[in-house]
Amino acid sequence: MGVNGVGVTGTVGIFGGAFDPPHNGHVALAREAIDHFALSRLLVCVVADPDHKTVETQPQVRLTLAELAFAALDEAEVSLDLFGRTVDSLEALDLADPVFLIGADELAAFPTWTRPDRVLELARVGAATRPGTDVHALEGLVAALSQPERIELFPIRPLTVSSSRVRERVARGLPIDDLVPASVAAEIERLGLYRTT
Ligand code: ATP
Repeated sequence: MGVNGVGVTGTVGIFGGAFDPPHNGHVALAREAIDHFALSRLLVCVVADPDHKTVETQPQVRLTLAELAFAALDEAEVSLDLFGRTVDSLEALDLADPVFLIGADELAAFPTWTRPDRVLELARVGAATRPGTDVHALEGLVAALSQPERIELFPIRPLTVSSSRVRERVARGLPIDDLVPASVAAEIERLGLYRTT
């Protein structure tokens, strides 16, 4: 099957992140986006060297963790994304009207991304609201963008988990079983990841 989805019906979703590590919030977002947008495929892109954050865990390790985390989702295809900027990933993927998925906190930063107008030409954006999201403020932000109709907020079951919280808990020797899939917790333990941050 070609990456441009030739011969495949249905909408393709793209979910990019550092996934350092992937957690239950990421999986919940993916699961609910598959339902909400009736996705036939979900490309999970592990960004090797994100523009906007420092990541110390090797890309290949994060790729393995993401493969484990999303293994339960039939639609998910996990790969390494060598572009630091979303606009470049989308240009390279060259998909017909995909949905690029983000958490609502990322949407707040969307106007500061490289070429947000071009991003909206290349993809619709699906923004999942998470705990503490000020939906009102986001609606105002969306209305001020060039193509507000290309952005859709969708609520997901709130899960207060972040990769930083997982890393902090591991560093403090605390359990993370409620925060990440069991296979991810086992691999973090096996590789001795995040013990010092
Ligand atoms: P960190 O804590 O290191 O900043 P993170 O948990 O935000 O990491 P990323 O890999 O940076 O994880 O996030 C990838 C995407 O997942 C982003 O669009 C982010 O908004 C979204 N996301 C992260 N945590 C959640 C959550 N609990 N619920 C829904 N979306 C989330």
